[in-house]
Amino acid sequence: NQSNTGIHLEDTAIQQHGLSAVDKLRFESQINTAFQNREFQIYHQPIHDLAHNKLIGSEALIRWESPSQGLISPGYFVDVLENSSMIVPVGYWIFEECFMHFKQIREKAPANFTVSINVSGRQFAHHDFLPTLKALLIKHGVKAENFKLEITERILMEGGAIIDVLNQCRDIGFEISLDDFGTGFSSLQYLAQMPINYIKIDRSFVMNVLKDERTRAIIRSIVFLASQLNVKVISEGIESEAEASVMYGLGSDYGQGYLYSKPIPLPQFLKDLEGQKRSPASF
Ligand code: C2E
Ligand code: MG
Ligand code: MG
Ligand code: MG
Repeated sequence: NQSNTGIHLEDTAIQQHGLSAVDKLRFESQINTAFQNREFQIYHQPIHDLAHNKLIGSEALIRWESPSQGLISPGYFVDVLENSSMIVPVGYWIFEECFMHFKQIREKAPANFTVSINVSGRQFAHHDFLPTLKALLIKHGVKAENFKLEITERILMEGGAIIDVLNQCRDIGFEISLDDFGTGFSSLQYLAQMPINYIKIDRSFVMNVLKDERTRAIIRSIVFLASQLNVKVISEGIESEAEASVMYGLGSDYGQGYLYSKPIPLPQFLKDLEGQKRSPASF
């Protein structure tokens, strides 16, 4: 119950842009306190190879486990993080968590398993981003090849120099996924510039794929575009077998969604991996 701080999560989620400057600051400081108190957790959601129904990786998704308000989704607070300087320390913390998680996951996961990490423009723009990232890889004894960085075209709002940073990330071994594809406002021009390996088709397409021929036409076009750019396609938000098989039929290589699993805490993810070893079709 937040009545003592004056901030209500419902208000901040629905009306973030309508918050007064004072309320915004108050919410920022609440989030900062939560970070200091280690209330953030990284959950994992499996990503499957649709052709072989095989697990190939996970996406790391941040959660706020608030003692007073329960589990809070990033939709409520990631914008606030990204629009404040907090995203820099929190972003490095996310990398470190993912690196540590990966070492536990790889004991139980198929070979070539990767963890996908969402990275915002502000993080790439930090002057010390690459040296810090390289140092963290060494600190945790993991390789960039075991991770994908998920970006959106919004990172270009930080300026064109971001492309150089992305290229350097690729050079040191990270793969790059373009997230939420098809939902942005910019032109296709950015596709020509960004050094990407994967396009993630946004859930807003997948949720209409069964009922709408025009949506299927657009997905076919995205798949063709991806093949021309020599990148693979991952579909977000697959909730049913029917959606999985139609997306596969339309040429999507990989899929992610509640059909396979919701995002779950690491211990449960590790347990599911063990279950999968016993019966490979179950996860
Ligand atoms: P995203 O990167 O596009 O992540 C996919 C979102 O779709 C996740 O929401 C996931 O829980 C949800 N999702 C996956 N499958 C299904 C499905 O079958 N049905 C439905 N209804 N939803 C599904 P989530 O975890 O709430 O994250 C929302 C957004 O917050 C993410 O979108 C990403 O943009 C951002 N975010 C999450 N974690 C981080 C992080 O660590 N760093 C940064 N910078 N952003 C993050
Ligand atoms: Mg993502
Ligand atoms: Mg996405
Ligand atoms: Mg999305």
